Amino acid sequence: MKIAKALTIAGSDSGGGAGIQADLKTFQELGVYGMSALTAVTAQNTLGVQGVYPLEEDAVVQQLRSVGSDLPPDAVKTGMLYSAEIVRAAAGEIAALGWAKVVVDPVMIAKGGSTLLQQEAVSAVIESLLPVSLVVTPNIPEAEALTGVKITALHSKLEAARRLQDYGARYVIIKGGHDGDPDTANDLVYDGSGFTELPGTRIRTSHTHGTGCTFSAAIAAGLAKGLSVMEAAGLAKEFIQAAIQDSLAIGGGHGPTNQWA
Ligand code: PLP
Repeated sequence: MKIAKALTIAGSDSGGGAGIQADLKTFQELGVYGMSALTAVTAQNTLGVQGVYPLEEDAVVQQLRSVGSDLPPDAVKTGMLYSAEIVRAAAGEIAALGWAKVVVDPVMIAKGGSTLLQQEAVSAVIESLLPVSLVVTPNIPEAEALTGVKITALHSKLEAARRLQDYGARYVIIKGGHDGDPDTANDLVYDGSGFTELPGTRIRTSHTHGTGCTFSAAIAAGLAKGLSVMEAAGLAKEFIQAAIQDSLAIGGGHGPTNQWA
């Protein structure tokens, strides 16, 4: 039996709710062998991020080469990349190793406000990373930061999605979590011709730490198993909906989404 393998290129969350910890739990839950290339260590808990310690880009490159030379992944996701140097190094290795099923979660700022991608790295994401991506999964603030489009209504979401596709992402998923609708949290998948809606209900909870990480990891898991982007995105939406519904009230702050819901 072929074992599907997925790789996350992301930061560590010591509190276990987001970052590589969320990604590896998601891979495991979805029946995919999980691997990780660490970009940064964060000192973090449910109350927030207390410290960020990025790795040298050589350390990221070497991890990717070690995985690539022995355990080539069937799909890859990127999360917190922190600096322009790490973004460019990761994108360069993804291209050199020929990895095609790449999900880019353009993580920028933690819910508590801490910087997970330096401002000067945003252009590196556009110039280096999106060209090697298959899917990009911005929330609304991230889509605005990457495109300069102020998102107010559907037509501006479409404009942002078009620009992100022009930068090189084959599929763009604009997540609805920040769109202010009190009842729904619908995500929109743009494939170049139009939007397909992934419908979701808004769940009233403050325990949503790691939501974006878990969603993009679930898409990568589906792709690793051979699903199409639309199939993987649909299943990832169901997975994240359940993970938020059953989120964990642990710690004194914002608890994590629950990958084993
Ligand atoms: N910490 C790390 C290492 C992450 O990769 C991410 C998410 O992308 C976060 C924190 C953000 O978590 P939150 O869902 O609380 O914004």
